[in-house]
Amino acid sequence: MKDEMMNMPEKIYADTAFINAKVITVSKDDEIAEAVCTAGNKILAVGTNELIKEYTGPDTKIIDAAGRTVMPGFIDSHIHFVMYGLLDHGVVNVDYKHVSSIKDILKLIEKEASVKKKGEWIVLSGYDHNKLEEKRHPLKEEFDSVAPDNPVQCIRCCAHMGVYNSYALNLCNVTSAEQFAPGEVVTDDNGNLTGLLKETAHMSLSKKVVLSENELLNGIKNANKIMLENGITSVHDAGSYGKTTMCLLQKSCADRTVKVRVRPMIFDMYGKESGKEYIENFLNTGIYTNLGDEHFKLGPVKIMTDGSTSGPSCATIEPYSHDKNLKGIQVWQQDEADEMIDKVHKSEFQMTAHAVGDKAVTVMLNGYEKALKDMPRENHRHRIEHCALTNEDIIKRVRDLSIIPVSNPAFISINACDYNRFYGDRVKYMFPLKSYIENNVITAIGSDAPVTEANPMFSLYGAVNRCDIKTEESCGDNQKVGIKDIVRMFTYNGAYAAFEEDIKGSLEPGKLADIVMLSENILDYPEKKLMDVKTVMTMIDGEIVYERKE
Ligand SMILES: [Zn+2]
Repeated sequence: MKDEMMNMPEKIYADTAFINAKVITVSKDDEIAEAVCTAGNKILAVGTNELIKEYTGPDTKIIDAAGRTVMPGFIDSHIHFVMYGLLDHGVVNVDYKHVSSIKDILKLIEKEASVKKKGEWIVLSGYDHNKLEEKRHPLKEEFDSVAPDNPVQCIRCCAHMGVYNSYALNLCNVTSAEQFAPGEVVTDDNGNLTGLLKETAHMSLSKKVVLSENELLNGIKNANKIMLENGITSVHDAGSYGKTTMCLLQKSCADRTVKVRVRPMIFDMYGKESGKEYIENFLNTGIYTNLGDEHFKLGPVKIMTDGSTSGPSCATIEPYSHDKNLKGIQVWQQDEADEMIDKVHKSEFQMTAHAVGDKAVTVMLNGYEKALKDMPRENHRHRIEHCALTNEDIIKRVRDLSIIPVSNPAFISINACDYNRFYGDRVKYMFPLKSYIENNVITAIGSDAPVTEANPMFSLYGAVNRCDIKTEESCGDNQKVGIKDIVRMFTYNGAYAAFEEDIKGSLEPGKLADIVMLSENILDYPEKKLMDVKTVMTMIDGEIVYERKE
């Protein structure tokens, strides 16, 4: 630290200094410092209170952290930013906190129908049928009874399926199960449509849902607000967005309506064919990953290869533990995946895929292996989003191919009980953070909000406790990691997954001043109480962008 001080021109004073803190620097040797100060949009110095005093001038704003944690801003490496912001802002939130039964959902639809014009979409999102009183999905007839004159879409929390009313199904010409792949249009015992659509059938209808520019902009602003309140300073936006949303998002970052740094993935969720076309159009421009600036930068190309862990619909090698007839839905077969990975890899793009089950993950690894053999590329940083169900062999292949898995330990906090039921012993290698560390695999962390919530404490809780928040039922506790480990994954590793570890992800002189102060010293705080920890202050580019009113 002394050396760094000597190298600084003498008259630079800090704009802001955090003192008396437990600073988790996430530096190479994991230094815990007492203080950190910023000048302009960069970190000026990190070290002892005494050292930082050298940089404080008459105009320096001094923040006494009183022993609490100060750390790099969280980098949420997998979040559906705009989609999340739209909840309660254009889209009705029906997650487990807002509704407990289908009756509750129907009341909300009825309310929307009373304020919307005939024919306008009513969109709801976030229900989990496993958590509803009725323990089933709603039926189209139930929606028809409260909203006969509006198309209704009610998306499950995993975003891989949704229930539609008759108006919506007619509008989109869905009349029989034969129009889509087996299992995607759910029917009752008599062969009648229930309104529940899965995967491609669901995605292709989603494309027809229209929200206004105003609704979208409100959603974007709301998403930014939620990030800052949660200490999140960068997001890798898992999309997917059409032209209007992408354009509004870029504009909002450019004029700083959105302060959080956004890295959108190139992805179209409206089914495989639609996704292929979208990606190919993009590749044909010759533009590739990392175009942009520190506020808005192009991320990887993403494809969606299977379902979700909680549906459960992810593609598994062995059948599910609760139902021996189920192995999930595999959307991309090996040859198609190979072809796409090869194209993306050769276009200099960073590649990623939503791949959850061990079967889907294996398809991606096979594809990466072939592409890298065909055209070796140093520092490709190809990723796998979720990479949830793994095994020893998968972890070794991830390591050998230098793939970055983007894990979601928050899922453990919320779904531990279901996971034990669906996957049995396999939870030992589900989001295997400990195994990643032991194998020198760099994993980044994503909340996958709105599938979970943006609050990073869900991820911290799941990573260190490996249990359900409500019941404390444990789930693969062999994969528990320490608080410093998960902080590194959630900051520095997120920067690494975006080729940005030289400019952010740790608190070191010269890096961007993206800092968060928490309400506690999390290094020495009861692990089971982590959900009580709040973000007290968020700084981006040296500017305090959020302060909690205490
Ligand atoms: Zn996602």
